[in-house]
Amino acid sequence: MKSKEAPKEFRKWVEEKWGTEDLPIGGVVPYHTAYEYKTGDWSAHKAVIFKDKCISCMNCFYYCPDAAIFMDDDMKAECDIQYCKGCGICAKHCPADAIEMRRLTR
Ligand code: SF4
Ligand code: SF4
Repeated sequence: MKSKEAPKEFRKWVEEKWGTEDLPIGGVVPYHTAYEYKTGDWSAHKAVIFKDKCISCMNCFYYCPDAAIFMDDDMKAECDIQYCKGCGICAKHCPADAIEMRRLTR
């Protein structure tokens, strides 16, 4: 099987970030960086939660791959848009139709 080379932009980004000498072994990304990388920076959609419809089932909290959902003091879901990448998984698994995906206008 022919191996593919990483895209030029990606290699440039890696070189700028770590330098060619200090690449992590096997390209492993350092752990505990979820808070550092704002996954919501590049998304085109955001999850909007209607708290009046939320029945506190916590499906969105458990399913969100970026831990962008948290529960407020009243156990209603909230979304931290800095980390929401707009995948829509939470909206798909909300039994109360309390989450709507909206396109961002920049
Ligand atoms: S859209 Fe995706 S990333 Fe954003 S809150 Fe929902 S599950 Fe998390
Ligand atoms: S999945 Fe829907 S009903 Fe359940 S906690 Fe999230 S917003 Fe509320």
